[in-house]
Amino acid sequence: MLNVYADNAATTAVSQAALAAMLPCFTAGYGNPSSIHTPGQEAAAVLDSARERLGKLLNASPREIYFTGGGTEADNWAVYIAAAIGAKKNKRHFISTRFEHHAMLHTLEKLAKKGDAEVTLLEVHEDGLVRPGELAAAIREDTALVSVMYANNEIGTLQPIPQLGAICRERGVLFHTDAVQAVGHVPIDVKEQNIDLLSLSGHKFHGPKGVGALYCRSAVPVASFIEGGAQERGKRAGTENVPGIAGMVAALEDSCGHMVANSDKVSALRDRLIEALSQIPRGRLNGHREKRLPGIVNFCFEGIEGESLLLRLDMAGISASSGSACTSGSLDPSHVLLALGLPHEIAHGSLRLSLSEYNTPAEMDYVIETLPGIIQLLRDMSPVWERIEKGE
Ligand code: PLP
Repeated sequence: MLNVYADNAATTAVSQAALAAMLPCFTAGYGNPSSIHTPGQEAAAVLDSARERLGKLLNASPREIYFTGGGTEADNWAVYIAAAIGAKKNKRHFISTRFEHHAMLHTLEKLAKKGDAEVTLLEVHEDGLVRPGELAAAIREDTALVSVMYANNEIGTLQPIPQLGAICRERGVLFHTDAVQAVGHVPIDVKEQNIDLLSLSGHKFHGPKGVGALYCRSAVPVASFIEGGAQERGKRAGTENVPGIAGMVAALEDSCGHMVANSDKVSALRDRLIEALSQIPRGRLNGHREKRLPGIVNFCFEGIEGESLLLRLDMAGISASSGSACTSGSLDPSHVLLALGLPHEIAHGSLRLSLSEYNTPAEMDYVIETLPGIIQLLRDMSPVWERIEKGE
């Protein structure tokens, strides 16, 4: 039996580059960057260098980078920045999409419940893509923020971000993108792509967990998010996670440095899976066939429960997911698949296989050999499948 880790959209293994950058920060360079002594100043230099290098990777200036405790925090902060700016101008309308991560949807819901936001959620259609014309039509005089995720975490579709950003820039509306699944996997240039705010997270590109960043264009006034000391230019207090930040930036440099080769390799693995799994009867690929991340494959198979499939796959050494890691344990079907217009009973039978450059063709062969048998086994036990087969 092979062990296949195919849940890289949930989290990734830490790369050697990230580990090598982190280790000295735990041993020799453990100073507090706010201290004036030498170890403190050495830690501050690590932080400065990481900020500058991260800025370069996104085509931003170091002053536009704010380190956070991950992608969720960056998403929350982006909403609060827009809300603070909007409150001064009497703008309380927020536009996002039906299939954003809960870090965005729950933050917007909370604002709306308090009466501080009116939220429009754009349709993502059957192919999992926002239509630029529908965004243009949804923008109002009082729109405070448009937030559209760069790549969806469950189905992997890539939105037309430069086009959406151009519409917002032309209409004078702030544009945020949750790029947590995209950074390190597809080329991102915040200036060229008209992005005002961008969230990223270290553990999605072979960096450590619990560390991320918010890019905020210099023209946008940043509301402080966590009160306390003067860290992050007084906007996000708390002693910085120096090892995490150093590891995250080293991981991103490594990923961006090999992006073309990694993307070619991972797309080839993905396409092989898509081709083979498409042969399984009563299955469907979710999301646009081409406009997708190199590493995410998402299928629904009729007549089975995603959770049962995951358990059987796990017994066979294959780690996968039936949707977002954050909703596993809940029996509700994924809001992402429902947003594509799938009926509940089909959305329940979903499987996400998410790959990285650490996966191999032999692993794909193993998945392709193993999966159809498990699906058949589950269908043989399923009264739902019996009804489907009888055409009832
Ligand atoms: N946004 C998206 C699209 C994600 O996929 C995730 C994590 O799965 C997050 C935000 C949250 O990031 P973090 O786990 O760093 O808080």
